[in-house]
Amino acid sequence: MTTTILDPVAVTENGSSTTTKRVLLLKPRGFCAGVVRAIDIVRIALETFGAPIYVRKEIVHNSYVVNDLAKKGAIFVNELDEVPEGARVIYSAHGVSPAVRQRAKDRGLKVVDATCPLVTKVHVEAIKFARQGYSLVLVGHRDHEEVEGTQGEAPEVTQVVSTVEEVEALVVPDPNKVAYLTQTTLSLDEAKYMIDALKKKFPNIVGPHAQDICYATENRQTAVKNVAHGADVVLVVGSRNSSNSNRLVEVSQNLGTNSYLIDKAEDIQPEWLEDAKTVAVTAGASAPEVLVQEVVGYLQTRGYGSVDEVEVMPENVRFGLPPEIVQAIASAPQPAQ
Ligand code: SF4
Repeated sequence: MTTTILDPVAVTENGSSTTTKRVLLLKPRGFCAGVVRAIDIVRIALETFGAPIYVRKEIVHNSYVVNDLAKKGAIFVNELDEVPEGARVIYSAHGVSPAVRQRAKDRGLKVVDATCPLVTKVHVEAIKFARQGYSLVLVGHRDHEEVEGTQGEAPEVTQVVSTVEEVEALVVPDPNKVAYLTQTTLSLDEAKYMIDALKKKFPNIVGPHAQDICYATENRQTAVKNVAHGADVVLVVGSRNSSNSNRLVEVSQNLGTNSYLIDKAEDIQPEWLEDAKTVAVTAGASAPEVLVQEVVGYLQTRGYGSVDEVEVMPENVRFGLPPEIVQAIASAPQPAQ
């Protein structure tokens, strides 16, 4: 495999016109810093505290990751009522509402919080705007756990919208005192469209200092945008319930390039590849690299002999572990010298 530090023009101009069947492997792809941290937290908790460790909801939205951690002793539950009193529970990377935190306290649970720091940032903004007396509009998918958690910070003043029609139907006590926030994993284009609609309806609306869509979501979408024109098909490795993975498919489709979301190589339908000379492969922020490599391996067996990794931008973000885990590591017995 060769790695190209992106010359997107060269990639897109040469892409679909090539006569050799080839794979363009996008970079950055796959695990983001929040997902790495969340998985590390479960793994370290299992190693230091021992199984079982309960995890509220899927730690990240990927079935392979969840099954792998379940095999190691993690027990995934939907709600804290399923966790025995006094047991240890980990909150997923998508975050929880204050009501869930209170429930954990009431049940005497030992909590380890794997909420991504970039989700926590949005929670802090929600608290700040609500304290300042704003009505809050949260742009996002209302059935997503992250949105439930953020909305839960100020439920009495927060309304969730996911379409322009919902923006137009909004009713607030004071149209001059409205703030917006967004889910971290939206499509950048869709979010801009929604924010423009909000600004039209509420000209004095305020928003966060820096966009809520996280760096990993943005970088993976930018990589697809740079390469989709030069590909015949874009395959996105990720699970059905992974928001950022679904958005990658949409970004490609909006550019006119067929795109499919696959959990694993076996999901690829041969007809998708008919007449496809150039197949671009990427992965959502919760999809492990092992699944990407299986997809590449499958494509190679189908005649895609050349694999070029196309690096659109470097990505070196890392997040520290939460104090409960740092302490657990520090107090774990040291191996004999
Ligand atoms: S996708 Fe973004 S917000 Fe979600 S866990 Fe990764 S870095 Fe955090």
